[in-house]
Parts: sequence; C-alpha cells; structure tokens
Amino acid sequence: MTEILAQNCCRESEANFVILLATAAGMWWGFLWVPSILKSKGDVMNKALKIAGVGLVIVSATAVMLLIQQRRKGVSLQGLTTPAMAASPTASGLPRLVDLGADKCIPCKKMAPILEEMKEQYKGRLDVVFIDVWKNPNAGAEYGIKLIPTQIFFDAAGKELFRHEGFFSKEDILAKWKEFGVDLSDAASQTPAFERLSPAKTDERPKDTICYMCDGSIAPKSLVTVQTEKGPVRLCSPHCYFIMYSCLTEDKTGFEKKVTVTDWTTGKPVALTEAAFLCGQDETTGRPWIKAFAAKDAALAERATAGGNVLALEALQQKEVSHRCGFCDRACYPQDAAEVIVEGGMHTWGCCSHCALGVAARTGKDIEVREKDRLTKQPIVVKTFEGKVASLEPKTAVAWFGQRQKPDGTWASAGCFHQGFFTNADNLKKWVEQNPCETGRLIPISQALADKMRLSPEQIKKACKIGECVPK
Ligand SMILES: [Zn+2]
Ligand SMILES: [Zn+2]
Repeated sequence: MTEILAQNCCRESEANFVILLATAAGMWWGFLWVPSILKSKGDVMNKALKIAGVGLVIVSATAVMLLIQQRRKGVSLQGLTTPAMAASPTASGLPRLVDLGADKCIPCKKMAPILEEMKEQYKGRLDVVFIDVWKNPNAGAEYGIKLIPTQIFFDAAGKELFRHEGFFSKEDILAKWKEFGVDLSDAASQTPAFERLSPAKTDERPKDTICYMCDGSIAPKSLVTVQTEKGPVRLCSPHCYFIMYSCLTEDKTGFEKKVTVTDWTTGKPVALTEAAFLCGQDETTGRPWIKAFAAKDAALAERATAGGNVLALEALQQKEVSHRCGFCDRACYPQDAAEVIVEGGMHTWGCCSHCALGVAARTGKDIEVREKDRLTKQPIVVKTFEGKVASLEPKTAVAWFGQRQKPDGTWASAGCFHQGFFTNADNLKKWVEQNPCETGRLIPISQALADKMRLSPEQIKKACKIGECVPK
C-alpha cells in the first residue's frame, strides 16, 4: 500500500507536468497562428488542421483551469480504495479530530495553524492529530481518504462521526463538533460577549460643529461646506470633503461648484474652485494635511514657515483620490487605512478594518489584512482562505462592530469611522470607555468576515456610499 500511494503521488505530479507543458506549447502555437488562420486563404485541409490546433489550445487551457481548481480544493489521492476504518479508539477517551494532509499542499498548509491552535486551546477536551500522508503513506490508506486535506471526527469511543475534504475553518470545525454534542466553547475559549447599545454620554457638541463624514469636531479655520438638496453639509477638512466626494453615487459633474472652503488666514469662506491649497505631511506620522487660501500669495507666505507645496484644485483632487478602499472605493490615506495584500501580490487598503475584510468578498480571493489595534497601534494580521479566517495574529484579536439605531428601531453600521480591530477584548473595552459616544458590539473577526462574504455583488457596489449607513 505504501508503494501504491507513493506511485499515485508521483503519477499525479508527472501528469500535472505534462498538462502544463502541453498548455505552454499549445498557447505558444496559438499565439503564433491564430491571427494568420483568420486571415489565411489556404486550402480546406490546411484550415482544418489549424482549427484543430486552436481546439487544442482551448482544451489545454481548460485542463490547466481544472488543475488549478483541484489544487485549491485539495490534492487527489485517486486509487486508494481501502474503506475507512470503522472505528479508531483513542487512548485518552476524548473526542478526536484527525487531519490528514501534507506539508506541501496549499489547503493543508492553511489548516496547520488552525490545528496547532486547537490542539493547545482544547487540551484535555479534544485530541487533535495531524498525519502527513506523504511521509506516512500507510495512514492515507488506513483512513480511506481520497483527497488531502481530509478531517475526520471521531467520538470518545473512537467511532467516526463525520469527515470533510478540503480546507475547514476553525469556526466550521467548532460548529460541526457542536452538532455532535461536543461544545468546545466556554469562558476560557469563547470571546466574551460585550456590547454597548446606548452611549455612556450624549454628544453635547452643537450639531454644526460636528463633521458629517468623520464625526470629528470642526475647527473654524478648516471648515468645508457642501450645498446639497437636504441643506448644507459641514465637514472638518478638505480631506473629509474628498472622502464624501468619493462616496457619492450621483453624477458629479460640476459638483465642486457647490463647495466652499475656509481661507486659512482670514477664516472667511472661499469657493473651492477659486482657492489655492498648501499641502504638507506631518513630520512623525507622514499623514498629509491641507490648508486652503483665497489667494495664492497667502499660501506661498504660509509655505515659508509651514513647508509643503502649493497645489491647484485639480492636482489636489488627483492626489486625494489616488488611494481608495479596496472594498468600498472610498478615498483614504494609507496612514489611516489597513493594508490589504491580495493573493497574487496586489496591494490595496481597507478604509476601516471591516472594509479590509470586505476585499476578500469583492475580489473573491484570499487576502492578508495588516491592521493596527485602534487603542495601542499594535499590529493585527488576519489571513483568509476561501472566505474564512485561516489565521489570526494575535489569536485574541477581536473586532468592534460600531452600530447605531435607525429611526425604525433596527440597528445598522455606524459607518467606517466607527469600526476597528483590537488585539484583545480588554483593549476594546478600554477604547469604548475612552469614546463614550460610541455604540456597538464586540464580534469575532471571523464573524466580521462572514458578514462581508454574505454580501451580494449589488450590495458590495453600494457599500459605504452616502446614505447606506445610519442616517445622522
Ligand atoms: Zn471629518
Ligand atoms: Zn471602505
């Protein structure tokens, strides 16, 4: 049996290599000849041959697509026909999770940190066993598996309860154990429930001093006003104006004519289209700042002491909307955003923690989110696989889902400025204490991701656009 398994693994990799070679050759041939076939006036036989060649290209490409798909799902161990063991008693008398995989298969690698974590976390309550079937080929046959990774659930008596092929997230594993009456959640392992649904303090600031986008206080020298059908909208800064601009779904032609900024020198209003802008960067954070001026001379004079560059509106706008949230398209500064690395190497940003997870839903790809604890700025890294959390660093990290009550009594997102990740529940609680007006609840990061994965393409298109969050 050892040999059969070893041969199968080899055979599979040889076959893959042949398919890849055939595709490469076919594609090369296709690129060279397809254009000339379309133009050629040769005899019928010649044409038929060439068309057959095109067919080969298509078949080869399909084969590769299937191969890639199969690789993502798991690696086939075709040819193993030994039935599953009826029972596999455990020495410890505990329920047991056996994962059969290999160290070089992608979904197996994604399983590794989950298994390690569960082994540690449920010590004394659940046996977690990993078997490398490429190093122990007998095991693959013994357990009768067809694909790696395969997870097999055994009860305390050693009776097989269930098996699953492919990547299986921690939340799904726990849910499955629960179905079989093994509840692994308890005070030690479960994220403690925490919520604050009514603010600890009411916001007593006058309404016209609160920024419409970020809820920050508006300094009179940087006020921006936008005339809308529903009346004037007040914003704390030109940056919040560009955020608002990027969240509009209406036709934006001539929109800038509705906008007034404040002259930094006199504090008097000036039309956005007539202002000059001084832009610089904060020395320590690198975060951009913008000051508006009625006259270019005044901007140049301020530059002499404050530094920065004087920009016209068009150049400023280009710069301000050049970095967008990879989920909701909102303009953002990378310094404020979560970094998102999409499978394949593309980098983007999440304007908030939850939007960062949304990149997995929007692209349909695996992502890595690098976010900072909203209280302590400590790093938090989330890796996803097939729309589920594959690893979380640190493991104690949780999400705050900022919510507010709508006039009809239901709860909805309080918007991107009110979300965040924390390295642990204590940090989250401290932050909530420091921000007495915030309302919402603690949720596991896996739930924040699941909420995004449930969205339809239409919902994703509308995400975070003006009017989608709780009205103010
Ligand atoms: Zn603002
Ligand atoms: Zn966003």
